[in-house]
Amino acid sequence: MLNLILFGKPGSGKGTQASFLKNKYGLVHISTGDVFRKNIKTETELGLKAKLYTEKGELVPDQITVSMLENEIKQNLPCLGFIFDGFPRTIYQANEMNKILTKYVLDLTATIALDVDDNLLKERLLKRGKISGRADDQSVDKILTRLNEYRKKTQPLIEYYEKMNKFYSVSGVGEINDISKRLIDLIENLI
Ligand code: ADP
Repeated sequence: MLNLILFGKPGSGKGTQASFLKNKYGLVHISTGDVFRKNIKTETELGLKAKLYTEKGELVPDQITVSMLENEIKQNLPCLGFIFDGFPRTIYQANEMNKILTKYVLDLTATIALDVDDNLLKERLLKRGKISGRADDQSVDKILTRLNEYRKKTQPLIEYYEKMNKFYSVSGVGEINDISKRLIDLIENLI
């Protein structure tokens, strides 16, 4: 099984590359952001709770996110592997994820970061906001909140996965196809 965490700041291209890797390796793509947006749109109980945070650019509380993730994993087993996009985003989530992976006898292959600098990210997010209509992409304030949340809560995961010898990173700047090639080269070396 190939189980990957795609890691990176908001706007680093996780969604685009995750959907490419999903097709290439036949994986199940779990994007916590997409699951939240789907639930918000259909106004489920989960969606109503999540909306309070996502619309401000803040992270949704860990307990809500973790139980949603376990549910998604459970529903998709058995499969060839998972690509996690947007999860984990806190040390608490990473610890809980380890427990869930053990519970379902899944091995984490690698955490791969897409590396992009903040100025380029702001540009990409504002551009995406015009096309996608995503509320959290449309204001500089919300984008800055998300980048701050990343710095405070998500960045520490780099050291966390480095200690587990599971952390890798590729440049997320350039043509989409070139970035995909960088990811494939790395993954082919790992499997
Ligand atoms: P981006 O990475 O571009 O910010 P996502 O689609 O991954 O966008 O996430 C959108 C929003 O969903 C986040 O700003 C946050 O509010 C919420 N979210 C997604 N994943 C998580 C998570 N693992 N923990 C908490 N909140 C999350």
